[in-house]
Amino acid sequence: MEVSVAASPRKSMAEKVFGGYHNGSTSQKKRATDARHDDSDGGMELMEIGAERTKNVLILMSDTGGGHRASAEAIRDAFQIKFGDEYRIIVKDVWKEYTGWPLNDMEGQYKFMVKHVQLWNVAFHSTSPRWIHSVYLAAIAAYYAREVEAGLMEYKPDIIISVHPLMQHIPLWVLKWQGLQNKVVFVTVITDLSTCHPTWFHPWVNRCYCPSEEVAKKAAVDGLDESQIRVFGLPIRPSFARAVLVKDQLRDELGLDPILPAVLLMGGGEGMGPVKKTAKALGESLYDKEAEKPIGQLVIICGRNKNLVSTLESLEWKIPVKIRGFETQMAKWMGACDCIITKAGPGTIAEALIRGLPIILNDYIPGQEKGNVPYVVDNGAGVFTRSPKETAKMVAEWFTTKSDDLKRMSEKALKLAQPEAVFDIVRDIDELAKQREPSNFPYLLTSSFTSLI
Ligand code: UDP
Repeated sequence: MEVSVAASPRKSMAEKVFGGYHNGSTSQKKRATDARHDDSDGGMELMEIGAERTKNVLILMSDTGGGHRASAEAIRDAFQIKFGDEYRIIVKDVWKEYTGWPLNDMEGQYKFMVKHVQLWNVAFHSTSPRWIHSVYLAAIAAYYAREVEAGLMEYKPDIIISVHPLMQHIPLWVLKWQGLQNKVVFVTVITDLSTCHPTWFHPWVNRCYCPSEEVAKKAAVDGLDESQIRVFGLPIRPSFARAVLVKDQLRDELGLDPILPAVLLMGGGEGMGPVKKTAKALGESLYDKEAEKPIGQLVIICGRNKNLVSTLESLEWKIPVKIRGFETQMAKWMGACDCIITKAGPGTIAEALIRGLPIILNDYIPGQEKGNVPYVVDNGAGVFTRSPKETAKMVAEWFTTKSDDLKRMSEKALKLAQPEAVFDIVRDIDELAKQREPSNFPYLLTSSFTSLI
């Protein structure tokens, strides 16, 4: 049995991390053999060459909205279900932890921009040409190279997965500058369903996972090779795909009325869109004045929008209403309801499709969410209206005279759903990783790397 050890003279950070480790050289093995007798050093740990070892997967995301984190968690959970301890998954906003302005406050900037949608619209479209965003991101990469490098290397990634449109360029530049492109697998998982910003597409990635054929076509037009593109669907948390959920039990668990049909109202991770007006309109339309009783119940999930929670809680309701902040059990809430009203967020749409929920889209963020509207409507899984009154009327009809429409749309939604996408993605990443020679993995010979930095 051969053993090796992390032992290296102190050099530049990249050399410290990768230098001299990749080729399984004789000197390495000699150092290793020598070090076998030197494990008194607390920083040295022995590992077997050729033995299976846990590979590190760093998922880069940001809490700009709720969709990137949800996709990151979906990939993490699918890795764990499929491969157990073979992979160690780390989900991080490395920019936030390691860099400075503007990278460390993407959440704040995104929240501000999407509140002023015209500003977001201009920013989205004016940065679309490649020469504009590439120059800008390369400049930021140069400025924050060491910080990003430190952020990435802290986690010793064998595989980096970006689930954010602004997390391709900078890490790929850093990997290139450090000569690590062939050593770390880098893949992008696009989390926009149809219209998406070109920063998602980077020619240096090993794979670009596109959620739809439409996005794949855009990737090809933007210069990605066919061999880089895969289309499996949007990665959705396995709690949606795999859990067997019984509506009656869920309603009991969540404290909902067991009989009344339920509509879920939400606005993505930030609780955006006309949630308050729609909630008020539903409060009226789902109450039968003549019979003096409700014809439906309402669940409102406000995400991180705490003001919305308190505003809604201060209102008087004639129908059963549940008002929640940021929920971690979305699969359960969706499983307990009969239809959903939401802005056109790709994550929420893809989840609702898996649950077979007819969708009323009541808003979209200009740019990346615009194309999600025809995706839902043209496929018969829902409708689009910005009018809270019209929305409320439609739900009341679905729950009374037009229940066939609800059923038909539910069937169409289920047809469009891609619950297995996340498992296909992690299987493909695993295959990519396995195609690499073990000696090419940067951390094969060390398990106590931070001691070297
Ligand atoms: N979400 C959640 N808890 C909440 C609100 C939203 O987990 O309280 C999740 C939701 O299930 C979806 C994501 O956040 O996976 C929202 O993503 P989407 O793409 O719909 O919109 P975004 O918030 O990114 O604009």
